[in-house]
Amino acid sequence: MRELRSFRVEAVVLRHADWGEADRLLTLYSRERGKVRAIAKGARKVRSRKAGHLEPFTRVTLQLAKGRDLLIVTQADTVEAYLPLRDDLLKTGNASYVAELLDRFTYEDESENFAVFRLLTDTLGRIASDSDPWLPIRYYEMRLLDFLGYRPHLFECANCGDEIQAVDQFFSPAQGGVLCPRCGAGLPGGWPVSVEALKHLRHFQRSNYTEAKRAHPTPEVRRELETLMQGYLTYLLERSLNTPEFLRKVQKS
Ligand SMILES: [Zn+2]
Repeated sequence: MRELRSFRVEAVVLRHADWGEADRLLTLYSRERGKVRAIAKGARKVRSRKAGHLEPFTRVTLQLAKGRDLLIVTQADTVEAYLPLRDDLLKTGNASYVAELLDRFTYEDESENFAVFRLLTDTLGRIASDSDPWLPIRYYEMRLLDFLGYRPHLFECANCGDEIQAVDQFFSPAQGGVLCPRCGAGLPGGWPVSVEALKHLRHFQRSNYTEAKRAHPTPEVRRELETLMQGYLTYLLERSLNTPEFLRKVQKS
């Protein structure tokens, strides 16, 4: 008899997609194995008992069995439903952004990253309970970059290494951080960054969430930080996603 390897994980549902007639393919971020995909059989049937536990952003414990090609969900229990994320469109949108960012930055390589799992669950909890998602999101972006190995240089110039002074600077996505005015003026592709915005970036990078919450940036600085972080993330995603795809193509041919 073929043995089914079965194991238990705690995970957050990042997204799901229809699979076959009645099944769902789940993308999960688990505490024990990082990103995994699994099939939930019959999850689209109206009377499915599992379906309610497997909506996006739900934190669940799952029993997974190794099928021929894919993992199969054999049992699902909700740990935390984060209900406000479903009732409020702004919260839903922000939770989707959190899930999508993690999904796009990670691969199914069975490597456990508890720090990322905890960041994910903390962030969903903060978006669910806080009236303003701006800070939970900015803090998440900065920490995620840290945990995944893309920590931006904010204290020394990413080009010449000189200590960054308290003046307006440039930010270079290609160099992975701030450029001093001298380097920034001479290198292409740098974005201007105000001294106020830089102060907040540094604060988020080295503070825990309670400390980070003490920041009260002006609306202008909030916009600047949002544009800069999302620009940097987009740059990294384009770069990091094209390479593995290219490598897979090369390996196939
Ligand atoms: Zn420099």
